[in-house]
Amino acid sequence: MPTVPKGLPDPGHWRGLHIKAPTHKSMADTLRLCREYLPDLGINVLIVEVNYRFRFQSHPELSEGDLTFDDARQLVSVCRQHGIRVIPQFQTLGHQSWGTHKNALLARYPHLDESAHERHRKIQSRSWCPLHPETNPIVFRLMDELIDAFQTPILHVGLDEVKEIGRCVRCRDHAPADLFARAVGDMHAHLTSRGVRMMMWADGLLDAAAMMGRSTEATASGTHAAIDRIPRDILLCPWHYLPARSYPSIAYLLEQGFLIWPSSWRSLPAAQALLDATRAARTPKALGMLFTCWTCGKGAPGLLKALRGLPPKGSFDQDSRQVLAVLRSLARQVGPASSDGSRPGLSVATPAEESQTQED
Ligand SMILES: [Zn+2]
Repeated sequence: MPTVPKGLPDPGHWRGLHIKAPTHKSMADTLRLCREYLPDLGINVLIVEVNYRFRFQSHPELSEGDLTFDDARQLVSVCRQHGIRVIPQFQTLGHQSWGTHKNALLARYPHLDESAHERHRKIQSRSWCPLHPETNPIVFRLMDELIDAFQTPILHVGLDEVKEIGRCVRCRDHAPADLFARAVGDMHAHLTSRGVRMMMWADGLLDAAAMMGRSTEATASGTHAAIDRIPRDILLCPWHYLPARSYPSIAYLLEQGFLIWPSSWRSLPAAQALLDATRAARTPKALGMLFTCWTCGKGAPGLLKALRGLPPKGSFDQDSRQVLAVLRSLARQVGPASSDGSRPGLSVATPAEESQTQED
């Protein structure tokens, strides 16, 4: 069975928070969040989604943000002092654009766009071409910089919602599952050569039609068949943001031999149901729970506003409040089930926050 890298919490005890990387300016708020609030909430792993928001030395032309090497080192150091391990994330393959905004790689090197030839089709979320010979050398250098800056034994490579695949002249004669397995395998080989474990979202390995019936939390792109061809030491994060009576991805991925880290968002009923389903599996192969905060506004500031009880202004602040209610209710419940099935920890969300979340 795969194990977790040294220095990380024991399996079953991972209480994670996923935030977007801070800017250099918001570092002070982020450090304050990590010092003063996250330990009390029980958080012991922090996923920081960096992507291109970093001052890359190897490719300064691909820096979209101003987070520095020293910022990363300081964040890691402060978090360690407070019992939190930081894992950086670099979004790979898909999600290289959102609407008309292209991320740095495709904006600077449009020939690496998997769908570059389709000029008139509206594309919400672009992919890079996994077979273009220039792609991996560039993105591996970016990953290496994040690995060094964050001194991490794990890199989260994203890989969710890959919808543009098998479209360019290099890729179109290959099955989506072959291309996905190739991309995963290439990245895994590179990270393994650096002594780093790979973590990824799991939706690309879950067949929407056969398993979930909800294409938003699985894939309809045909990539799911890649699961038979990828290394079992990859850590998988099946994300489920909607309430459901069951989450078959949990049993499926465990049966496939992976360690899993189920991931929730802002709906407290959904997060509670996912945590209950994870605990019901009663297996050390479930690491714990990852709480995501997609709309918390550059990471820390949104959550800090909610923690200080400041009145929300707009939907992002509302989302931060909801995520905080989820954290307060559930983070300390994460842990192996006791023999009588009871959960550790107590709910500390206020009734007002719980009703606010449930209205969503
Ligand atoms: Zn291609």
